[in-house]
Amino acid sequence: MLSLPRLLPPALLLLASVISAPLSAQPTPPPATPQQQQPAARPAFGNQIRQIKGNLYRAGNGAWHSIFLVTEKGIILADPLNLAFATWLKPQLEERFHVPVRYVIYSHSHFDHAAGAKVFADTATIIAHEGVATNMDGRYPQMPGDMIDRNNNGMIDREDIMIPTTADPGICGMSASFFDQTDLNKDGIVTPAELQVDIVKPDLYYSERMTVTLGGKSVELMHPGKNHGNDMTVVYFPEERVVFATDMIADALVRTDLHSLPSACGPFDGTPLAEWISSYKAVQALDFDIFAGGHGDFYSKADIAAPIEFLEDLQSAVTEALGKGWSLEQMKKQIKLEKYAKWQYYDKLREKNIEAAYLNLTKFR
Ligand SMILES: [Zn+2]
Repeated sequence: MLSLPRLLPPALLLLASVISAPLSAQPTPPPATPQQQQPAARPAFGNQIRQIKGNLYRAGNGAWHSIFLVTEKGIILADPLNLAFATWLKPQLEERFHVPVRYVIYSHSHFDHAAGAKVFADTATIIAHEGVATNMDGRYPQMPGDMIDRNNNGMIDREDIMIPTTADPGICGMSASFFDQTDLNKDGIVTPAELQVDIVKPDLYYSERMTVTLGGKSVELMHPGKNHGNDMTVVYFPEERVVFATDMIADALVRTDLHSLPSACGPFDGTPLAEWISSYKAVQALDFDIFAGGHGDFYSKADIAAPIEFLEDLQSAVTEALGKGWSLEQMKKQIKLEKYAKWQYYDKLREKNIEAAYLNLTKFR
């Protein structure tokens, strides 16, 4: 859940612009061979725009990515990421494509992906799943990384953020400086307004599916169900056969492949494990070639099977152990998940995944 700094100093912004990859936007290249359909997308630091396929591009900074489709009537963008990035992106898009951003879609309401859309608000309609309306109604939103009101004082204070941040650095919580950056009036509490200071409320909500049409192109939005968040949107580009989804299937820990244990914060972010699995399967059921998510590399449809299988195996191992009356400590010792021994974070996160599944499956049944 490492957060990007909300405001990069101007010098860093300039540097980021200079090192961004040059890009020729037009015309559409010839049809890709099957091998070219999986372009390499190593995470690199600095703001970048790179072509995925045709008029579809990935833009991002470090391990955080957005996606946008250029049409003759304007651009459809998913996830502005943060105010600094959006401020960099807007003139890049204007210079390269000469059309305004007409739609901004939020993959979910978390501040490290949805912030910054005010930069595009003069030309764009902002769209999100209806769960985002609840998460922006003035109460505390569903938070990532096990950042919860753990001391039950009705507010998010320093320890609510720092306990998961310190326990699992770079995996749960946010960066060490997140609390001080977010507590704008320095009263020791981060309020919902402070958490969402750079997030613009959407103009339009949908509940299950929605089609966005612009300049003769269509983009499909789908709420897959709850998983990492309770307001998730998957963006499907049918003509390009590309899917964009954030913090699900590929979370912030994922790099070159999907053989990576999930970060599994708290009780799996407080949504039922069965729904995590069904929502991943809803993505798998789409007809696509490339999964180009908010984190990680580009993956094939076949690659999506591995994280689904992991969650199913974890769910069944812990369910079986609960049925036998095992304690959590016994489960951590005896559930080895050997099939995944070579996955990234196996040693670091195996027990944590078992604990998260235990908390989840005793809460939801
Ligand atoms: Zn998130």
